[in-house]
Amino acid sequence: MSIDKLVKRLKDTHVCIVGAGLTGSLLAVFLARRGMKVTIVERRPDMRVETISAGRSINLNITRRGLRALEKAGLEAVILKDSVPMMGRLIHSRTCETSFQPYGRDDSEYGNSVSRGELNKTLMTAAEKAGTVTIKFNQRVTNIDLDTNTLSIQNEAEKTNYEESFDLIIGTDGSASQIRESMTRKTGNPCQQDYLNYGYKELTILPGEGGTFALDKNVLHIWPRGLYMIIALPNFDGSFTCTLFLPYESINGSPSFDKLQSEHAVSDFFKTDFPDAYGFFDKPIETFFENPTGGMVTVTTKPWHYKDRVLLLGDAAHAIVPFFGQGANCAFEDLTVFEDLLSKYIQSDDVLDWLALFMEFDELRKPNADAIAQMAIENFIEMRDKVGQPEFLLQKAAEKVLEKNFPDKFASRYALVTFTHTPYAVCRDAGVIIDEIVGTLCKNINSVDELDLKKAAELIDAKLAPVLKGQVRDQVLSS
Ligand SMILES: Cc1cc2nc3c(=O)[nH]c(=O)nc-3n(C[C@H](O)[C@H](O)[C@H](O)COP(=O)(O)OP(=O)(O)OC[C@H]3O[C@@H](n4cnc5c(N)ncnc54)[C@H](O)[C@@H]3O)c2cc1C
Repeated sequence: MSIDKLVKRLKDTHVCIVGAGLTGSLLAVFLARRGMKVTIVERRPDMRVETISAGRSINLNITRRGLRALEKAGLEAVILKDSVPMMGRLIHSRTCETSFQPYGRDDSEYGNSVSRGELNKTLMTAAEKAGTVTIKFNQRVTNIDLDTNTLSIQNEAEKTNYEESFDLIIGTDGSASQIRESMTRKTGNPCQQDYLNYGYKELTILPGEGGTFALDKNVLHIWPRGLYMIIALPNFDGSFTCTLFLPYESINGSPSFDKLQSEHAVSDFFKTDFPDAYGFFDKPIETFFENPTGGMVTVTTKPWHYKDRVLLLGDAAHAIVPFFGQGANCAFEDLTVFEDLLSKYIQSDDVLDWLALFMEFDELRKPNADAIAQMAIENFIEMRDKVGQPEFLLQKAAEKVLEKNFPDKFASRYALVTFTHTPYAVCRDAGVIIDEIVGTLCKNINSVDELDLKKAAELIDAKLAPVLKGQVRDQVLSS
């Protein structure tokens, strides 16, 4: 059995979004604005009523790409109101020295530390306020019948099962997506899930009296230790959400989750490797054993749609590891593109060719999702074991000098990804050239004062300009 091509006016189209996470909730806002009837089914209880389980709070660095989608939805200001600007990374050495690496070329370029839970709550409320959206909580989708566009749903509160059919189904159910799983099982399409041999564990630094910050407020703190690290992001209330990234099993004798089995071992580990942070953590030993250990996966699959009826968006289509801080930003950029395509494909009689839209969406986004997935893995290595090395520091300082001297022609890869809308695939390709240029210029010098700027100009014109095609910073930002 198979269903017909979807030819319905938007206002008569009933869409089901599976998952009321960041992607699903923001998507609902955009669809409701088009007059579509939206039902979101969400496996978890309503987080605006129930508290988030411990150790799963997560802070996000929301940057240009994410902000553009929020702006389009009229939500940028409300989200930024409770964010904390992060001007750069503050690196903490084993011997408790710190060094600051700015993110941008000046103070106008920074990241925004945002609580994922609070962001999600705001988006859910915005979706509900949009008028045609209903969120059904405690509803777990267990299967999708692609022949009839019918979902099998388990009501987790009442322990009952039922089925419901929709015109369109959009899977925004995260990295372990059930919709993706059912789609690939039925079609045999490729789906690769690459798990990192690392886990993460959340720790907290509490606010001081009157909401003061125990550490520098406007930075992302990193304690890089070669094969493992801790990062800390500031929260609006004066606390920090910290994340320990550690191998599950020891690599060449390194600390690992499987070695940290006793209170004594954990306390020793923190005191030896993170002496300046240890005293600030709230109950580090108890937290270490009580909080869950999260896993990280890169998901690649193709295509992201099934006929003109089902689409995957956000982590469900392309989960990435968190080390570039771009998972949600990329998912939100999906929505900006999706929203633009809705405008492009909608016809005067309020119907549209969903298959054509889905195919163009895949074509536009897939190469970029693959690129940010690759860069996220590369950034893992950079944050973990390069940020403290002298050659790396010299190269980053050289990038800053080049950004200042050639503002219309040069930007670091980090800046391109974070502060512009340059397609991720272009950022990745430019990054290779940027490394080459900076590597050449830094050979045999010890300080950025010795940089040969004439040679830099020649290399940038000859090698980088053709890749960026004049798209550096402001030109891109104003697009
Ligand atoms: C430690 C860490 C740090 C990160 N830092 C950053 C950062 O700094 N910047 C950034 O941009 N990104 C970051 N990310 C990535 C970001 O969290 C994700 O990319 C983002 O949450 C993806 O949103 P989503 O809505 O697609 O998926 P999710 O947030 O996973 O939401 C999926 C939703 O679907 C629901 N669901 C799942 N299965 C079902 C089902 N069968 N039926 C019904 N509902 C279901 C879930 O309950 C959930 O509500 C980080 C991630 C981690 C783990």
